[in-house]
Amino acid sequence: MPNEDQRSAVEIIKENSNYLRGTIEQGLQDRITGAISDDDTQLTKFHGLYQQQDRDLERERRKQKLEPYYMFMARIRVPGGVCTPAQWLAMDQIADDFANGTIKLTTRQAFQFHGILKRDLKDLMQAVHGASMDSLAACGDVNRNVMCSPDAFQSPIHEQTLADARALSDHLTPRTTAYHEIWLDKKKVDPPQEDVEPLYGKTYLPRKFKIAMAIPPRNDTDIYAHDVGLAAIADGDTLLGYNLSIGGGMGTTFGNPDTYPRLGDVITFCPRDKVVEMVEAIVTVQRDYGNRSNRKVARMKYTIDRMGLNVFVLELTKRLGYELEPPRPCEFTRNGDTYGWTEGVNGKWSCGLFIEGGRVRDTEAAQLRTGLREIAKIHKGDFRLTGNQNVIIANISKTNKPKIQKLLDEYNIIKGLGTSGLRLNSIACVALGSCGLANAESERYLPVLITKIEEILTGLGLQEDEITIRMTGCPNGCARPYLAEVAFIGKGPGSYNMYLGGAFHGQRLNNLYKESLSEEEILAELAPLLKAYAEQRNEGEHFGDFVIRQEIVTEIKHGTEFKH
Ligand code: SF4
Repeated sequence: MPNEDQRSAVEIIKENSNYLRGTIEQGLQDRITGAISDDDTQLTKFHGLYQQQDRDLERERRKQKLEPYYMFMARIRVPGGVCTPAQWLAMDQIADDFANGTIKLTTRQAFQFHGILKRDLKDLMQAVHGASMDSLAACGDVNRNVMCSPDAFQSPIHEQTLADARALSDHLTPRTTAYHEIWLDKKKVDPPQEDVEPLYGKTYLPRKFKIAMAIPPRNDTDIYAHDVGLAAIADGDTLLGYNLSIGGGMGTTFGNPDTYPRLGDVITFCPRDKVVEMVEAIVTVQRDYGNRSNRKVARMKYTIDRMGLNVFVLELTKRLGYELEPPRPCEFTRNGDTYGWTEGVNGKWSCGLFIEGGRVRDTEAAQLRTGLREIAKIHKGDFRLTGNQNVIIANISKTNKPKIQKLLDEYNIIKGLGTSGLRLNSIACVALGSCGLANAESERYLPVLITKIEEILTGLGLQEDEITIRMTGCPNGCARPYLAEVAFIGKGPGSYNMYLGGAFHGQRLNNLYKESLSEEEILAELAPLLKAYAEQRNEGEHFGDFVIRQEIVTEIKHGTEFKH
């Protein structure tokens, strides 16, 4: 444990913030700048807000000696990814009223808005509240949006896991009243009483904390990429509990060998009635033992490797007061989403839609945003955001199904059919445009690159084959790139490190194949590999497994073997 004076600057900011207030309120009133203070930029993350700048204008404004074009990103939590049509309509309205006219569906089942000006922040937050939603703890050093397999009506198990995801989310949400006070003008109690954070304390967690649940055989939330992963174990229609994994995490820093992506280790079967207390106990171990001096190695994955998995688990059992049960048999065979129409066990229908890059907007080819708005106006079920940036229009009655199909046709919204298996399994982070950490394009470029790769695939007869491809603008890993069969991490403008060999079911990290490749080099590298795959693969073998078997890259058994 670092001693007090080794604590990082962010730890001091948190401690002195009076439970996440800082000077945010005063900063909002300062009309001279479009920014808030540096300290407050750390605190607004806990409120779901990131200060960013328009990266496309960066150089020009610097030349003109103007302040950067500051704008904010707001992330709206949706535990388990489920929202109502009224909430969808509210998000759609917010995109026009306060953001850049688009909605970003994130890789963690949240809504994200970009391009918000400081003067509009409060109105946006009130509009979110008006839709019975919030952005508290969507970012920051706390437990974030709890993910859950989204197609909740495919079996009674889905519904039960969704209930548990919501219970976990409620239990781990910070208790500070700062959010209501700053954004919703809730009156301060008189005389003022200090907030209490029974779980987190004044300094919250050392770093972000992420939980995801999935129902085998589909690992559609990539549970092993999360601090806590929960794989549902059922007996028929009854959910018994979860195989619980700890220590997953994606982010790395180029050139810093102390950082690496890591898959969660499965440590136990957790009965359903103990899941909240067990996850809470894990959070407290990380709270007390996580590194608070160096944020680069503060995630729980590093705490576990520093302490040793056995010691971490020993500490956990001490806090729980009982021994952990061994994990139960459980197998994932795939990740990704289901596209098109499926009938649920309750007789209702769902329609999974492919949303490229998670960006909901109208284009010449398809009026996606308008179409989804019109659907939300007549839809009586719900919308489900997936962990792969897609959406499911769920719980549709037989009578409404043709009406929704008609709207999908009218606005040319594809359900994924007719698109390559590669594109349907693609994820991209926002990167350039707004993210301050991006070295290269991602969301705006991956579709272009995929079109070029599709030409190769079509020539080889591989256009239908499902291959996971992910791209991020930096090694932080927001699109979980280290799990993809093919991944690209931005090194600089137009230059990417290429990683190969992730598993299709999300249970193996990929490995560095080549560094700093241009588009031309990427295509030149991929063409012979895909040709060999088409000609030499075994029956049913996925591309990630093929490149490992062929020793094109070596298999990574633990994150510490990862090369930058
Ligand atoms: Fe930004 Fe990097 Fe995350 Fe992409 S992966 S959104 S570039 S921080």
